[in-house]
Amino acid sequence: MPDLDMLGPLQTAGLADYHCHCDYSIDAVGSIDEYCQAALKKGLVEICFTTHWDTSPISGSNDNVIRIKGKLKPTIPDNLEPYVEDVRRANEKFFPLGLRVKLGLEYGWYPGCEETAIALKERYDFDHFLCGLHELDGLCFSCKECYPRCFAKYSVEELVEKYAEEIAAAASTGLFDCIAHLDYIRKYAHAHYGEELDRLLFERGLPQILEALLTSGTSLEINTGALRRGFSDYFPSMKIINAVKRAGVMIPFLGSDAHAPNEVGHDFDAAEIIASPWSEAWSQD
Ligand SMILES: [Zn+2]
Ligand SMILES: [Zn+2]
Repeated sequence: MPDLDMLGPLQTAGLADYHCHCDYSIDAVGSIDEYCQAALKKGLVEICFTTHWDTSPISGSNDNVIRIKGKLKPTIPDNLEPYVEDVRRANEKFFPLGLRVKLGLEYGWYPGCEETAIALKERYDFDHFLCGLHELDGLCFSCKECYPRCFAKYSVEELVEKYAEEIAAAASTGLFDCIAHLDYIRKYAHAHYGEELDRLLFERGLPQILEALLTSGTSLEINTGALRRGFSDYFPSMKIINAVKRAGVMIPFLGSDAHAPNEVGHDFDAAEIIASPWSEAWSQD
């Protein structure tokens, strides 16, 4: 009998969703138990909660909070405790039913956050420490209200350069198990800058990112949330997925980026095949 804790996501035995928010995240709905029930219904064998944890002092945003029992509290390490306990309790409850429940975090990256991240990792024993990049120079590019300010500041070349630089810097720290939704910048920037954005991301941004991922051993996820945002493929795009797989970067995680229980495991049937290290590239590029 293998030691279950030594295994990674149990993709061979079933599917695992390694990127889920719950109502501890201010932009999500549904309790941890509701997500676990949804995961069981979908036939998943594992779910990893990755609530948002934003502490950027420069963004001046309202995101530096966690919701605990309906109340917003600042993101200081003490305030993460109820979430950690809730996830561990859920594992005790759902493991006998066939669902492993893991503790993760989507840590909002900004330059200079390393010390804060290290302190948090020392305090809590995360199973999955996910890096989420949602802002550049303190300007959020991933919500409808904020992105115009961010894009007003950068040409498409500058935006790609800055984005790649930040992802590479985050990966190079070696603090993260995985970079969340690589090329998430496409969410609004694709419509704003057009095809040129994708071309520059691939040709100019990706080499720098690849080098940092390979050197640090940081992996990627296939984030199926892109499908719910009008894209025909994932974060990252199929073209990038194929390129990183050929370069030897691991993509061992599937993440729905669910912000509601009904989004758990979204479109994993197709994504599973693409994520497999044994699969051939899905599309010609
Ligand atoms: Zn994110
Ligand atoms: Zn997320």
